[in-house]
Amino acid sequence: MSSVVDKVWATLEHLTDPEIPVVTLRELGILRDVRETAEGIEVVITPTYSGCPAMGQIEDDVRASLEQAGIAARVITQLAPAWTTDWMSDEAKEKLRAYGIAPPHRSCGGGGGGGGDVSVLKFVRRQPTEPVACPQCGSTHTVVTSEFGSTACKALYKCLDCQEPFDYFKPY
Ligand SMILES: [Zn+2]
Repeated sequence: MSSVVDKVWATLEHLTDPEIPVVTLRELGILRDVRETAEGIEVVITPTYSGCPAMGQIEDDVRASLEQAGIAARVITQLAPAWTTDWMSDEAKEKLRAYGIAPPHRSCGGGGGGGGDVSVLKFVRRQPTEPVACPQCGSTHTVVTSEFGSTACKALYKCLDCQEPFDYFKPY
């Protein structure tokens, strides 16, 4: 383990998703890797939803943090394998729930592991197969009110028990 690599991880540890300030990029699985190459340090990030406008900001945040820490590193955006909500840590999901966003279910079948032919352009939105639980009261008595919530990555739901609207982070 290189100490520079450790330093980079430590520097980026606190970066959070611009839209979800409670979860870190590492917990979301966006921050993939920090590696030392012949050409220097490389930081690998994988965008979440390809349509997410937040990605540009994430890259800027990573660059700015590295600069501030005086670390020269290249930021590499890696598109394959495509990011999936399955990469989110359980801790991140728990934080989402506490923040009032219903965390994604595991994406059903197909994705991941297959290797090779992952098309990042294939933009399949899966409907949740299990009921989405209200992050406020835990009730599964919920309905979708809009396929697009505050961002394209989320759907807007409403809890029929506590009447609270909430975002559901769509599995992807
Ligand atoms: Zn509720």
